[in-house]
Amino acid sequence: MEILDHLPVELSEEKILKKLRAKPGNETIERGVRELLDMVRPVVNARAVYECSYVEDKQEDSVLIRGTRFTSRVLRVNLDNVGRVFPYVVTCGREADALKAPENDVMSAFLLDAIKESVVQSASRYLREYIVKKYVLGQVSTMAPGSLKDWPITQQKELFSVFGNVEELIGVRLTPSFLMTPIKSVSGIMFPTEVRFESCQLCPRESCVGRRAPHNPELAKKYGENVIGNVADAAITPKA
Ligand code: SF4
Repeated sequence: MEILDHLPVELSEEKILKKLRAKPGNETIERGVRELLDMVRPVVNARAVYECSYVEDKQEDSVLIRGTRFTSRVLRVNLDNVGRVFPYVVTCGREADALKAPENDVMSAFLLDAIKESVVQSASRYLREYIVKKYVLGQVSTMAPGSLKDWPITQQKELFSVFGNVEELIGVRLTPSFLMTPIKSVSGIMFPTEVRFESCQLCPRESCVGRRAPHNPELAKKYGENVIGNVADAAITPKA
């Protein structure tokens, strides 16, 4: 297991404004983002934990990793020819999470939320590149519990059990409903793949701002008809 502290994160005012689709010259938003970045940058400590692991057993709809059984037909099929996998948790960190916008300042709260999301997205990209480089992998994909009906969010408990006490390690804990806190955290299993996989390919949800790949109903046939569907994870989990 390796813990990464103070992950390098890119917090560019320009990119955040672009992500917010702010019109150029909107001074209120530009000043707001600038001031909040000044608040976040000195304290931010994005962190990650991951474990280089092996698939120990494969059943029809499940795999065993580090003695923990993960039940998902899609994950099982994706790991068909895979031996080594990387369970992980990444977070924007408690320091950034603790920052609050002034009370009743809805705009600042919105902008701060977008900045915290940028932190975890940037940290996730860094972790992906770090693992690819360290273990000399080619292309990798990830899957997360809760991203598809096929792999329920309750399996966050199993994922966290791979690491022991994640709260002690990097300050992330699970709520009784298996959401992560800080909420700007992402978790999952990374695996090498020849063809890039995104859960969004199997998810029919139309109005999702977090969509990372077009819906591909044909692809579902590869996994079996019962795997289609989502649990609206975009609403609860920042996307890497
Ligand atoms: S809810 Fe959105 S982000 Fe989640 S799998 Fe569906 S399209 Fe992708």
